[in-house]
Amino acid sequence: MSETFYQQATHAPESSFDVTLRPPAFSEFIGQEKVKERILLMIEAAGQRGDVLDHVLLSGPPGLGKTTLANLIARAAGTQLHTTSGPQIEKAGDLAGILTNIQKGDVLFIDEIHRLHPAIEEYLYPAMEDYRLDIIIDSGPSARSIQINLPRFTLVGATTRSGMLTAPLRSRFGLANRLDYYTREELAVIIERSAGLLEIPIRPEGALEIASRSRGTPRVANALLRWVRDFAQVRGNGTIDRENADAALAMIDIDAQGLDDMDKRLLEALIHKFGGGPVGLNSLAVAVGEDSATLEEVHEPYLIMQGYLARSPRGRLAMPAAYEKIGAPVPPSARPGDTTDDLFGGTAG
Ligand code: ADP
Repeated sequence: MSETFYQQATHAPESSFDVTLRPPAFSEFIGQEKVKERILLMIEAAGQRGDVLDHVLLSGPPGLGKTTLANLIARAAGTQLHTTSGPQIEKAGDLAGILTNIQKGDVLFIDEIHRLHPAIEEYLYPAMEDYRLDIIIDSGPSARSIQINLPRFTLVGATTRSGMLTAPLRSRFGLANRLDYYTREELAVIIERSAGLLEIPIRPEGALEIASRSRGTPRVANALLRWVRDFAQVRGNGTIDRENADAALAMIDIDAQGLDDMDKRLLEALIHKFGGGPVGLNSLAVAVGEDSATLEEVHEPYLIMQGYLARSPRGRLAMPAAYEKIGAPVPPSARPGDTTDDLFGGTAG
């Protein structure tokens, strides 16, 4: 099955387009005010002490600005950024290679840090805590450990699955930040900024229309902007307004609430095949023919945030909004406040 627009936008490797639109300074990084404030404070404090910035953890769904923040941190601290990712570090030697190449104060960005191999993670602990690597060389009776002293550095770890991070790793970060979905207004500002950089004429209502359907995600907003630009150029007069934004997004099956085909199939399967749940994620994934990790990373968080879906210890549950979305009657059991007390004749309210 082909990927939906959102899946493509969230999984695509970084393009020159992403790089062009990436904010070059904190002042151009829209939203996430609390996170920004905390990071800026840490940078200022470290600067005053002439110290190296403490390690920073960034978590949140893909496309919310984790890589961008890592870039901004390195820039604001006036140091070099080195980028890698959990799955790229296969052996202790890979990590040693990276860490012995950095200079004092540099920022090492490890994307998808929850996917680090457990053995590599063990090597990372003393590196983070004491700026030291203990590497075992040779094997069998001649195996011995050698110690490498490292320059003081800042690790910025990013994860889309903060729940999968081990407690020892998490505890070694000085500051853990969770990025939230952006508001429609914030996304409209990001879209207008991007349109300015790409010299695309856009009206404020056009930007808001795209923003409403961007799943709270800047990367999606920028990808949608690109699509609507093409549409406006071919089918309109080139300026993005509410009408052509609406028509362009309908053409790629993104509805007014920002749900795509896979979101709707997921809700339909949950309601029609599993009676509204609770049902396990893997059963849902099989029913819609999608990889469970994609459902969990791309689709579920947004559906939960929008109130279509809920997670319970026994599995996923359809909320009243989900029934309304697919045009099915809402069963009383899906109504909030429908407690067992009610079922057994208890007094409500
Ligand atoms: P992540 O690392 O969380 O997947 P990125 O940092 O790669 O996300 O962000 C994706 C794109 O979204 C960037 O190229 C950037 O253009 C844009 N972006 C992200 N956050 C912001 C923001 N706060 N303000 C403006 N643009 C942003």
